[in-house]
Amino acid sequence: MLKVLFASSEVVPFAKTGGLADVSGTLPVALKSLGCDVRVIMPFYKMVEKTAPERKLLAERIEIPIGRKIYLGDVWETNLEPSIPVYLVQCDEFFDRGQLYGTAKGDYRDNAERFIFFSRCALELCIKTEFAPDIIHCHDWQTGLIPAYIKSIYRDLPQFAKTRTVFTIHNIAYQGLFEKEVFQLTGLPADYFNVNGLEYWGKMCILKAALMFSDIITTVSKKYSEEIQTSEFGYGMEGILMSRKDDLYGILNGVDYAEWNPEADKYIAAHYSSSALTRKQKCKEDLLNEYKLPAKLRTKPLLGVISRLADQKGFDLLAQIMDKLMSLDIGFVLLGTGEQKYHDLFETIGRKFPDKVGIRIGYDNTLAHKIEAGCDMFLMPSRYEPCGLNQIYSLKYGTVPIVRATGGLDDTISDYDERKGTGTGFKFEKYSSKELLHTIKRALALYEKKKDWQKLMLDCMACDFSWEQSAQQYMELYRKAIKKVIRQKGEEVKR
Ligand code: ADP
Repeated sequence: MLKVLFASSEVVPFAKTGGLADVSGTLPVALKSLGCDVRVIMPFYKMVEKTAPERKLLAERIEIPIGRKIYLGDVWETNLEPSIPVYLVQCDEFFDRGQLYGTAKGDYRDNAERFIFFSRCALELCIKTEFAPDIIHCHDWQTGLIPAYIKSIYRDLPQFAKTRTVFTIHNIAYQGLFEKEVFQLTGLPADYFNVNGLEYWGKMCILKAALMFSDIITTVSKKYSEEIQTSEFGYGMEGILMSRKDDLYGILNGVDYAEWNPEADKYIAAHYSSSALTRKQKCKEDLLNEYKLPAKLRTKPLLGVISRLADQKGFDLLAQIMDKLMSLDIGFVLLGTGEQKYHDLFETIGRKFPDKVGIRIGYDNTLAHKIEAGCDMFLMPSRYEPCGLNQIYSLKYGTVPIVRATGGLDDTISDYDERKGTGTGFKFEKYSSKELLHTIKRALALYEKKKDWQKLMLDCMACDFSWEQSAQQYMELYRKAIKKVIRQKGEEVKR
């Protein structure tokens, strides 16, 4: 049986800021059903007290050196499905905080120490519990040191003699970039701080460690795997990724239809399906109530957004057209949290158009479900989007996605063809507000043709992005990684 340790800094239902958590909480379940012995490891943040009330102590006082200091970690065990262990790495000094990575003011200043600690603790736990993983599947920079550790200070341990690493990029813009002095805290050999190692223009880059030392690299859509090899999307990593293109794969994220399905969604006002579509209207009315928007919007097209409010998501485009958009006979609701400038922007828009616009700044899973169910259209004009999950959820809810043709948005949504009546959404190429407005207007025009709109909704709802196929692809990559020849000592720093 293939043994996989799945290392992630966020996992639903325990802690979440974005799509990474959805993937980390659902892909392991699909891998398990394909016969994998999969175990998940994540930090024990403050909120985990509540989200994992049933847990038992697995290991105590694991010693982790960070620079000259020794920190102690306890590891608790809970589970995802009854048979998928989730290891929670506890060190209150690092993780007993309200947020995962930082506050609205910025990242926590000791993020390097926090995730050096987490990464090493994952490996030490394997040793302590005598778990010899075939694969350690790492996600994003927070776990990016693990591949470097496996190739260096942990390489001669029998525990890891056969271990291969797979690293998944969920968003290449987040890189774990720190001052070079931080390097000595990692405990890696000094010669790992060079251009073929962790050094990036005089700084230490943890993402780069992952890209240099993992055996296989994946990202979350085929299109994004191509985009990140270009300077426009690679955020400085395009050269490395091009040099590793034979080891780079794009596998689309699946979604958890047990959680995101209008036929069984526990958060929405009425259940509906393709054969009982009219009940979606109840969800719309409930959503309008939720936002205290007037009843006259019940018969108007309602557009929705659920998002981290970050530059990546294309809100500058939306801001530019908001006045024009609001001159149309529509409603608009938004749920999001992130950068202060977007909080201010959307709150101002909300005040300007109180009869048409509902704004909720914050994180609210229940409301996210209500928006998916209650809206007619879902907006994702992202500048870049590695995979994107909300457009896929939207499909299932018959909430027609309007997206920019980038990354996973391009791979999952096909543009509506007005002549043939085919497609699963509305898509624009060029990153411009004019294109966005034009595309929204195309959608609004079709909305008026009730029959055509309904057919489009049904076509959306018929799409299937469940995990099975993607999990199979990961299994194939795991097998590929296992077959890779172990490189000779020192070879990888010369890569
Ligand atoms: P990203 O990972 O870049 O944030 P994704 O579309 O991949 O974007 O995933 C976002 C996930 O986070 C979705 O499950 C979405 O519903 C959820 N989400 C984002 N913002 C909020 C919010 N303010 N409240 C509730 N859920 C949110």
